[in-house]
Amino acid sequence: MSIEKVTSGNMSICEFHTIPLKIKNLNRMKYIGAHISASGGVENAPLNADLIGAKAFAFFTKNQRQWFAAAYSDQNIQLFRSRCEELGFSPDHILPHSSYLINLGHPGEEEISKSRAAFNDEMKRCELLGLNRFNFHPGSHLNQIPIDTCLDRIAASINIALEKTAGVTAVIENTAGQGTNLGHTFEQIAHIIDKVEDKSRVGVCLDTAHTLAAGYEIRTREGYEETFEKFARIVGFHYLKGLHINDSKKELSTRVDRHDSIGKGVMNMDLFSFIVNDPRFDNLPLILETPDETIWAEEIQMLYALQQ
Ligand SMILES: [Zn+2]
Repeated sequence: MSIEKVTSGNMSICEFHTIPLKIKNLNRMKYIGAHISASGGVENAPLNADLIGAKAFAFFTKNQRQWFAAAYSDQNIQLFRSRCEELGFSPDHILPHSSYLINLGHPGEEEISKSRAAFNDEMKRCELLGLNRFNFHPGSHLNQIPIDTCLDRIAASINIALEKTAGVTAVIENTAGQGTNLGHTFEQIAHIIDKVEDKSRVGVCLDTAHTLAAGYEIRTREGYEETFEKFARIVGFHYLKGLHINDSKKELSTRVDRHDSIGKGVMNMDLFSFIVNDPRFDNLPLILETPDETIWAEEIQMLYALQQ
């Protein structure tokens, strides 16, 4: 029995058992996709997502390894918007990602200004596309300033960006804590959020590979529950705006960020099963950033198949 039958047929929902309906409803609340290519124009992103059967997607708003890029044309913007609508992608399930050069906590004045300008530009691009969230790695102290000072600088950078844009939430991604990258503990993320003035426009994205490498054991039922109980207590689920679903080549607490394809790294399938069956992750973009793009369609199917 499918929902389609229930809603398009003449029979009322009451004539069916409610339990299978509930399960079906739960399954429909998960929006799984991947970080797909937007090369050739941002309007290609929804097409590429649709090709792999994604229900959500991420993309770089511009070339992720360059500081400057041409502004979007009106045609880019209109096509992106109309294709998302035609293909059924809601802004709630699209999680654009910032370029890698930006360091919102940079110790140097000149450098942080450059990062802030680039970040504001990317936030503005999201606004033009009609999107409501923008994902970024918080920043690095480069061994030049104390951790708390760097976290304060990151929060100040977010405040500037929120003032200059409208409707887009700045989504802090947790990191593996590689090098001097901050945002690898829930406490550091909470510190940044605490200093952001408009709490309605700051959010969090958790990456499974980063979470494990940062020291949170999420592969066992006990560790999983404990980790998300900590997240709920220290940060709060109301800030969660998306997940990055990745396997990891690196073990617990290694502080090294190396993604792997689902089922090929040190995670077990239990973790992915916990996630796709957990209602706390309903209605959020669940994004694969796994290294082999030729199997994304398969990985998406595999994750949906784990639903009970
Ligand atoms: Zn990620």
